[in-house]
Amino acid sequence: MLRQLLLAASRSERAEAIAKNTGAVRTAVRRFVAGETADDAVEVARALTARGLQVSIDHLGEDVVAEDQAEAAVRAYLTLLDRLYGAGLAAGADVSLKLSALGLRLSDRLAAENAARVCAAAARVHATVTVDMEEHTLVERTLSLVDELRKEHPTVGVVVQAYLRDAEERCRALAVPGSRVRLCKGAYEAPEAYAHTSPREVDLSFVRCLKILMTGQGYPMIATHDRRLIEIASALAVLNEREPGSFEYQMLYGVRPAEQRRLADLGAVVRVYVPYGDDWYAYLARRLAERPANLAFAARALLSP
Ligand code: FAD
Repeated sequence: MLRQLLLAASRSERAEAIAKNTGAVRTAVRRFVAGETADDAVEVARALTARGLQVSIDHLGEDVVAEDQAEAAVRAYLTLLDRLYGAGLAAGADVSLKLSALGLRLSDRLAAENAARVCAAAARVHATVTVDMEEHTLVERTLSLVDELRKEHPTVGVVVQAYLRDAEERCRALAVPGSRVRLCKGAYEAPEAYAHTSPREVDLSFVRCLKILMTGQGYPMIATHDRRLIEIASALAVLNEREPGSFEYQMLYGVRPAEQRRLADLGAVVRVYVPYGDDWYAYLARRLAERPANLAFAARALLSP
């Protein structure tokens, strides 16, 4: 119930205006968001890579409804890649893109052209791109645009959300050589016809998808903080004789940093998803929905002087 309320709040302009005008909320945001500028993101990337972790950096924003907003998002990514290159951090870094931030609500063509510009800039500095998966109504269009992008940029990564009923089928199609696939539970609201709704069903689907990806020939990117799922992934890696560099774990900036460290110390590739930018509201609301206990953290920040 609370999760649904928080997911509804993630789409409420009124709740967004209140949150953005509350100084203490902005302070609380810093736990999950690197900062507002590309330089803030680069500093966080520098600190994480110095500790043996990899990064995927996301310029916050989604659902743009005007071409100039989509253009601003592309420019933000070009600036970010440029700054990463200048800092000597671009090679091996990844950027995460939301096609709705690049104009998908306006047209597939606009989003495809904008994403291709970011992919070309990333390739020039030896960084990779992963296309985030958004709400279920955008899944088909996102997958076909990623297919198109891959013709020119074969390393572009795609996301499968285990809560979707067709997740296994997607994994089977994607477990092929050269394919980078991020598996996550899924962070959006979706109707029961399309998505498993009980946490247990989502976890079981995640495990079935993991088996397909870990026995397949692609590069699985296991995006979860769930201890049991991480253990199952580690066991599947051993069973399938996967070397540490043939798959990776991914976690969000600010979530379970000790677990990130533990896995990296064991020799695993661990990539931290680092969001930055001033459009942090919907991202933060989804993080609170995943773990309502974080509300206590936000409330403490609100009440502290
Ligand atoms: P959960 O069952 O939610 O959490 C397991 C445990 O992890 C919790 O008990 C808690 O200890 C800890 N935890 C989880 N979340 C939090 C939190 N916010 N704060 C503090 N502790 C927490 N979703 C999409 O729909 N599309 C995407 O493209 C996408 N990309 C992602 C990329 C990365 C790198 C990651 C890590 C997640 C991504 N997600 C994406 C979000 C994902 O779908 C889940 O909503 C999110 O990861 C929480 O699920 P979980 O697997 O960690 O399991």
